[in-house]
Amino acid sequence: MSPPNITYSAFLIIAGTACLFIALLVFQTRRSATGSFALISLLLALAWWDITYAIFWADVPGPTVFFWLDVTYVGVVTAPLAIFVFSLQITHRSKWLKSPLLTLICLEPIIVLLILFTDPSHGLFFAGKRTDAFIQDGGPVFWLNVVFSYSLVLVATIILYRTFTRSSGMYRKQIGMVLLGLAVTWLNNIIFVIGINPLPGADNTPFSFTIAALAFAFSLFRYRLLDIIPVARDVLIEKMTEGVLVIDSQNRIVDMNPAARNILDVPASMLGESVDKVLSHWRRADRDTLSMANTSVVFELRTGETIAYVEMRATPIMDYKDRKVGRLVVLHDITRLKNTQNELKLLATRDSLTGVINRGHFMELAEREILRAKRYKRKLSLIMMDLDYFKNVNDTYGHQAGDHVLVELADLCGHMIRKIDVFARLGGEEFALLLPEIDGQAALQLAERLRSSFASMTMDVDSRPFNVTISMGVTEFERYGGDRLEEMLHRADRALYHAKETGRNRVVVWEPELG
Ligand code: GH3
Ligand code: MG
Ligand code: MG
Repeated sequence: MSPPNITYSAFLIIAGTACLFIALLVFQTRRSATGSFALISLLLALAWWDITYAIFWADVPGPTVFFWLDVTYVGVVTAPLAIFVFSLQITHRSKWLKSPLLTLICLEPIIVLLILFTDPSHGLFFAGKRTDAFIQDGGPVFWLNVVFSYSLVLVATIILYRTFTRSSGMYRKQIGMVLLGLAVTWLNNIIFVIGINPLPGADNTPFSFTIAALAFAFSLFRYRLLDIIPVARDVLIEKMTEGVLVIDSQNRIVDMNPAARNILDVPASMLGESVDKVLSHWRRADRDTLSMANTSVVFELRTGETIAYVEMRATPIMDYKDRKVGRLVVLHDITRLKNTQNELKLLATRDSLTGVINRGHFMELAEREILRAKRYKRKLSLIMMDLDYFKNVNDTYGHQAGDHVLVELADLCGHMIRKIDVFARLGGEEFALLLPEIDGQAALQLAERLRSSFASMTMDVDSRPFNVTISMGVTEFERYGGDRLEEMLHRADRALYHAKETGRNRVVVWEPELG
């Protein structure tokens, strides 16, 4: 029997009381935190261990000599298990706890306690090596329990260490704090094994475990933000308007938020299927882009008549060894932006008064048509038109009336031409009409029809009816020469000039003598 040691006893009481107090604090303030239940169990087990051990060391008489020592075992067998469960929980491995092996592990303390308290009838725990006076050594179950307990703490340490090396930020700090706590228990064991215990005969294990538990509790208080990070992230990803997809290295879609399901138009039941299967309605090239591209790409997704524009940004997902394990894809529906862009582009190509194509865009389209005519040896004609005495119209009826005339001419031409024709306002009261697949003769006929239709239109501004005429110059693409746009424009202009010269309200086809 060891001597009473009041100092040692007092320290144990302090440690035990601290555990009780912290357990209460955790219960009151951090009950919802991950691992809080295991931590409270650990603190209570240690409080039990510390206090009953203190009673034993204070030499308080019990029903049997070793009564208070036996009673400590309730805490001794529970603490390692609680450390183990706590480490599983804070490393998000709680689902391991559902396995049957773990149920068996959890039964171990009960079995050990039963064997301990029935020891006098079978001796499995002490094997008769404990007399009423002193403890010589433990029996088989005593040692089995020691091995078992340290195995649990060892596994917990390994799990925590692996998580520590793979994690980052606040979480890494929290795990680090827990590991530091566990390091104290290992240090204590080393001290015990190499025999430099400052208190021979007394066991420092309850202290080292208490310090570890306090470090755990500290990590739970210090890094309390951790509880909300996973929740906040889930809420964010679920609610965000951007689509988020996770694609694994086997090209399967393993996660997808509601926005992504919406943008891609696929049901949640497709999770776990390959990109090719989930997006079978996509073009192959687009699916490949989604599976491979590492940069930002814009997709055009057609469903019937409507086109959606989706911008995709992909980031590789690396594991802790820097191996690529998948891709995080963010999808952003930019249809509205794209439509606005298209509208702006359209506006930039149009004349604001008449709504027809402007000079700049005409030049672009005309160049394209000339290339086509050249390459495929097609026919192409050009008509230039200019309103007659338009200055007079403005002067007599006002600038607004003049604008009205311009709009009327644009409307008339718009109605009389085909879809493939290019009609543009080159500037002022000058217009051009490019006619693919039409030769000079047919162009002349169309020009004549336009001229006479317009001449017979009566303008009516402020109940003052009047008529306006146009003059036109026509030229044909010279298929066998190296014809260029400037040359065609020049010829049409010369013909138009000739029409003005020879009386206006006329159509003139270019001839070499016109220059
Ligand atoms: P011509 O038969 O020789 O072509 O005689 P014209 O009076 O039409 O002569 P010119 O082509 O030199 O005059 C062009 C006039 O067109 C000058 C300008 O006041 C008018 N004009 C140009 N742009 C606009 C416009 O946007 N609105 C109105 N109302 N008038 C315009
Ligand atoms: Mg004019
Ligand atoms: Mg003019």
